[in-house]
Amino acid sequence: MSEIAANLLQIRHQIDLACQNCGRDPQTVRLLAVSKKKPSQTIIDAFNAGQTLFGESYVQEFSQKAEELELAVEWHFIGGLQSNKVKYLRGKTALIHSVDRFSLAREISAQWGKIGETADILLQFNLGGEASKSGADEAEALELAKQISALPNLQIRGLMTLPPYCDDPEEVRQYFRRLRLLGEKLSAANLPNVIIEELSMGMSHDFTVAIEEGATLVRVGTAIFGARD
Ligand SMILES: *Cc1c(COP(=O)(O)O)cnc(C)c1O
Repeated sequence: MSEIAANLLQIRHQIDLACQNCGRDPQTVRLLAVSKKKPSQTIIDAFNAGQTLFGESYVQEFSQKAEELELAVEWHFIGGLQSNKVKYLRGKTALIHSVDRFSLAREISAQWGKIGETADILLQFNLGGEASKSGADEAEALELAKQISALPNLQIRGLMTLPPYCDDPEEVRQYFRRLRLLGEKLSAANLPNVIIEELSMGMSHDFTVAIEEGATLVRVGTAIFGARD
């Protein structure tokens, strides 16, 4: 068995255990393999081990890989996104996790409109208020969701966060919980084109905590593919 296959097996096992611990159905948690900065061959290896969901963070790298690989994979875009690059993602990504401002949502709406499709997006929040990270402010969540929900060709499917790094995953729990509560608040607003069914949270070192707090998509890179340069 390849190392990637062994890692995937181990992570799926940890997901199952975390679900057992909090009484969740493991089917409600999807593993997104974050393949950024890793060569296409690693994606092939993971695919051969049964992994079909992949996340990329850089538009150019994503485009190259998506073109090169003729695999039936589902691509998610999880990185910071400039509006002028949205056209390169058009119709190719199943979910964009990193929408944190109206202007970006408007451009996604326009691009997907050109091909007569609807884009699924998540709203990204910067709950730790870190200057180095993208994500909208929690305080503007309702206003942002309202504005975006009025755009055509767009569906808000949930929320995403990239919390501050803490050595102890328990310290990150508060952020995961806050994202879940924020999702409940936005759901209660009953906006059109907004169905908060996904919580994208948890990475290699804290995904089990994220699952306990309700994650439906865990974004795992290092634990599957090893350290990045
Ligand atoms: C790189 C990245 C990940 C994966 O992080 P690991 O610690 O390698 O698991 C998850 N989410 C986002 C947004 C990332 O950029």
